[in-house]
Amino acid sequence: MTWVRENIEAMAGYVPGEQPKAGEAVKLNTNENPYRASERAYDAIRSLLETGLSRYPNASGQAFREAAADVYGVEPDWIMCGNGSDDILTVLTRTFVGENDILRLPYPSYILYKSLADIQGARAEEVFFNDDWSLPDYFGQAPATTPTAPFRVKPLENVEPNSLKLAYLPNPNSPSGTLIPIDEIEALANAAPCPIVVDEAYADFAGVNCVELVKRNPRVIISRTLSKSYSLAGLRFGFMIASPDVIEQTMKVKDSYNCDSLSIAAATAAIRDQDHLKTTTAKIVATRERMAAKMRELGFVVPESHANFTWNVWPTDEISHRELYEYLKKNGYLVRYMNYSEWSDGLRISVGTDEDVDACLGLVERFLNGDR
Ligand SMILES: *Cc1c(COP(=O)(O)O)cnc(C)c1O
Repeated sequence: MTWVRENIEAMAGYVPGEQPKAGEAVKLNTNENPYRASERAYDAIRSLLETGLSRYPNASGQAFREAAADVYGVEPDWIMCGNGSDDILTVLTRTFVGENDILRLPYPSYILYKSLADIQGARAEEVFFNDDWSLPDYFGQAPATTPTAPFRVKPLENVEPNSLKLAYLPNPNSPSGTLIPIDEIEALANAAPCPIVVDEAYADFAGVNCVELVKRNPRVIISRTLSKSYSLAGLRFGFMIASPDVIEQTMKVKDSYNCDSLSIAAATAAIRDQDHLKTTTAKIVATRERMAAKMRELGFVVPESHANFTWNVWPTDEISHRELYEYLKKNGYLVRYMNYSEWSDGLRISVGTDEDVDACLGLVERFLNGDR
């Protein structure tokens, strides 16, 4: 295509998880929440519909910033709202990373980070997790140009000094669900030559987070979403917690009205209902533990998950993950098949209701017993 920028034409584009029609399959593939969001969120939307939608929304989503500030013990100017946390990640990448700059990310992790670097014409430097999903010395060296670096990275060519402009660190990570301890992140951040975005999409399921770290170190930026723990993936709302110096800059980059009135109202009501969050996350965590134990009992390797999904790998190649994925799909259960080059493939299974998870595990067992 003649007029398109070369980097856009060359990039693969992010492929979201499958969204079958309602009722067609039990969705355990995109880490949505099986429980209903706080009724207060629905009430907020209903009452706004009565007021009408003829006016522009508040440009910064001030009501939400005040609510989130209360929850996290910061001032509202430490919060920026986004149209889903993908919007937050886009704004951060556009704010910090220019053409030919380097964006560092762990591998395997959230695939979108690389797409965002590609759009900027920047380069993504993928630092491999260790085999046990611990992180090598993330900032222990300048960008690597050879595969023989102290830790495994995919090498880049023609790297200028100081071209590392931003680092992403999802914690808990996807697809593994594993958690880097907060004191390790603090040590990493103190050594970082650039801002580090801790993507806490799943932090509510982990019980720990980097909020106190943001207050101590302005290089740390947190990204959050209401899609997973607040059951509002269809609403599209995320937010950032960062020092006011960072927020002042990112506010210039975001779309003027990046969040609509309905989503601001519903998100504000939802985050004010911390009791609802606690109840649903506790249920999900209990189901997750049962699911992980059962999958291990069946013979899968399952790293300890701190999120609302588990990463399941069969230890030999006797079992094809893809075949199991197809078998589950044929029987009405959609999980996520992931194949990471130079790592492994496996199945990421979201935590659903107890009933759906038990039915899915029953199918896995039948498959292993030879029903293929
Ligand atoms: C789901 C997810 C997000 C994005 O969530 P939004 O729906 O865009 O708010 C961000 N990061 C990770 C690691 C995720 O898994």
